[in-house]
Parts: sequence; structure tokens; C-alpha cells
Amino acid sequence: MNPSALRLVLVSTPIGYIGSGRGGGVELTLISLIKGLLELGHEVIVVAPKGSKLPDSCSKAEIINVSGIDQPSWQHQDTSSSIIIPPSAVLPRLWEKALELGRTSDAVLNFSYDWLPIWLTPWVEADLFHLISMGGVSEVMQNLISELSRTNPNRFAFHTNRQASDYSLFEKPVVLGNGFDLKCYQLRIESKGNLAWAGRVAPEKGLEDAVAVAAALSECLLVWGVIDDPEYAALVEASAPEGTIDWRGFLSTEQLQRQLGTCRALLNTPKWNEAYGNVVVEAMACGVPVVAYDRGGPGELIVPGVTGWLVPPDDVRSMIEATSRIDEIDRQECRNWVERSASHDGFAKRVVDWIKAGLDAKES
Ligand code: UDP
Repeated sequence: MNPSALRLVLVSTPIGYIGSGRGGGVELTLISLIKGLLELGHEVIVVAPKGSKLPDSCSKAEIINVSGIDQPSWQHQDTSSSIIIPPSAVLPRLWEKALELGRTSDAVLNFSYDWLPIWLTPWVEADLFHLISMGGVSEVMQNLISELSRTNPNRFAFHTNRQASDYSLFEKPVVLGNGFDLKCYQLRIESKGNLAWAGRVAPEKGLEDAVAVAAALSECLLVWGVIDDPEYAALVEASAPEGTIDWRGFLSTEQLQRQLGTCRALLNTPKWNEAYGNVVVEAMACGVPVVAYDRGGPGELIVPGVTGWLVPPDDVRSMIEATSRIDEIDRQECRNWVERSASHDGFAKRVVDWIKAGLDAKES
């Protein structure tokens, strides 16, 4: 075993089991990272809600399933809401297990956007690190992260600078981007296909704007993802002529990339400060250029004129115009950007460097 190898405990999101899709981009981020860490020779133990499964590529990781009630997600609450921990919640149970394992591990890496694990940071023996997966959707979380960034600055990392800008941090943020296993995505150079949209179907994702673009261009929009909010989905459906949306459901990465790769462009329409935007990079990995609102993570992921177009947030007219110029984008360049900037191995190295620097800072 590599002498500098770490024994790491990774704690998944309590919003849903891995594979449910309810955890959004965190599920894929976690899987990519596990794979990258294993390839680097680190030991990985995953603590996750019952029902979670890892792909074969992660078979060397140990997985511990914990039962309990799912945590309600912060993005569907008011920013001023109090902390909710339901009776028999999975969240504290995940952390009982993680803290126990943490005593005999080098570090515990938290993937959940929750008050409890972050609050624990200065008070427990285990070394806790938090990869923050959302922008500032809750005051209580923003305040806690901002406060602890004074006393424990090395313990927080973010996906993009725009995400991190939602928090009043004491020091310059650690920004790690994200990582994708390129072998899972096939580059498709030729495409005259449909327009695409992927993500959780929920108001913060702004599907209605992508549907409006497709309707204005008399095109069909292929839509993939978990329907988080069925009432919202029905409203979006009713907002456009029949047949504008082709609902494709929530697919595995393998099936998603196969269908997505046939598309001409992905439309990305966040209404919130998207922390990163996994689907943007997954589309580019297949060679699919992206037209996105210049808001949150996607604004840092798309190189205008090279991998797609950025348009002013909420400006449907500009998105229509940019979408009609998508043929100017070279699909190979989209894939090249992902290979250079968002591979799973590069991401795993950045995460390990961050954790090692945090552990070193504690020693000194
Ligand atoms: N996704 C999927 N199958 C689908 C549609 C989406 O696995 O049919 C995944 C996609 O791979 C991505 C996640 O859903 O990892 C959405 O993540 P994103 O970062 O775009 O948004 P979030 O849901 O985290 O806000």
C-alpha cells in the first residue's frame, strides 16, 4: 500500500439513497470521487442511507448502509427556516457511524448540506472536512459556515467561486471544481438531434424557460431527471404546446449519456446560484454544447464560443438567439474542455491535496 495513502470515511447525503436521484449531483460527484481515490490507492469507507449501491468500479470501497427517515432538502424551504431533523432521521445515525469510524481514520469527508455535521467540526475527535454542495440557500447554514471559516478555514471546500461567493468566508475559498469518469461518456461528433434539458424537475432549475425556448423554435425538448415537484412539472407541461416536452425519466449515467449524446444542445436554465452544474459537464463530455444562463457554476464551466454560449440570466430571448447559433460550436472542443478541467482523477487529487493540507495545518 502507498505509504502516503489515507483511510477516508465519505458520508453521503441524507436526502436519499445513492441511486435514487434525490441527492442530485452529489450522488455522481461521490461516485466519481470514490473511483478516483481508489485509483490513487486510498482506502475508502462510504456511510450512506439504506438502499445505496455503488457501481462495480467502486467495488474496493466498503459501504455501510444506515436506515432512517430521509432529510428534507434545504432548497425547498425558506432561507430563514429553522433546522429540521425528523423523528428517526437518518442524518444523526449516519453521523454516529461516521464519528465512530472517524476515530480510526485519517479524515471524514461530508457530502451533506446539513447543519449537524458542520456544527460538529470543532467538537469531535475525528477530522471533519466538508465539500459544500449548494450555494447559500439557508441563513442558518450560511452563518454557520461563515463562522467556522474563521476557526476551521481548511475544513471547507466549494465547487466553484460563484458558489463560494454566497458565504462570508474568512479566507480565500478552496475551490475544487468537480470530476467525471470520462470512460462513462461517449463523444458524439455528428449531431443534428433535439434540444436537451437534464436535472431535478424543481422550480430552482427553471425548466419552464428551456421549454419556452424549444416552443419558440418549434422544437422538441428531451427532458431527463427525477420529478422532485410534480405540481411544478404539470405547470411547466401546461405552459407549452402539446408535444414540446418529451419526458424521458431518470436514467442511469450509461443510458443518459447515450441519449444525451444524440442531442444538438443542452439548455441549462438555473434560477438559483447553482453550485456547479453536473449536467452541463456531462453534456460536454458527450460533445454536446451548452447554452446556459450566466448564473452560478455554469457561468464558470462554459467558455462562450468554444463550449457553448452564456446568456443573461432569465433572458429567454437571448437563449433562443444563442440556441440558433449552436452549430458554430465544435463538439470536439466540448469534450476537450472536460478532459482538461473536470476528470475524475484530477478531482480526486485536488480533494486529497485539500485534506492533506488541512491535516498538516492541524499538526503545525
Ligand atoms: N441525472 C441522472 N439521470 C438522469 C438525469 C440526471 O443520473 O436521468 C443526474 C446527473 O448525472 C447529475 C444530477 O442528476 O449528476 C443532477 O445534478 P446537477 O449538478 O445538474 O444538479 P443538482 O440536482 O445537484 O442541483
